Amino acid sequence: MSYYCPVCNGLQNAAVRCPKCAGPAEDCGRFNDFLGPYAPYRAIDDMNLSNGFYDRANHVCVHVMHCLACEHQFQTFIHEWSQA
Ligand SMILES: [Zn+2]
Ligand SMILES: [Zn+2]
Repeated sequence: MSYYCPVCNGLQNAAVRCPKCAGPAEDCGRFNDFLGPYAPYRAIDDMNLSNGFYDRANHVCVHVMHCLACEHQFQTFIHEWSQA
């Protein structure tokens, strides 16, 4: 059994509303990619993530979203799909 992110694979849009203004938000890509190769885990401590949050075993793909209405930037968790 393997898991993959439907948004990363273009199978599904990250249809997420902005938590601040409920406006439409666009997907800016995976959180890992967004941070870039030179600061791969810089923000994790800042976000005070719980243990295992980032673990692949949770089968979630963290995406960075950007609100088109109020410019708010936030993370959303895409549940990965299983593939037998
Ligand atoms: Zn993804
Ligand atoms: Zn907004």
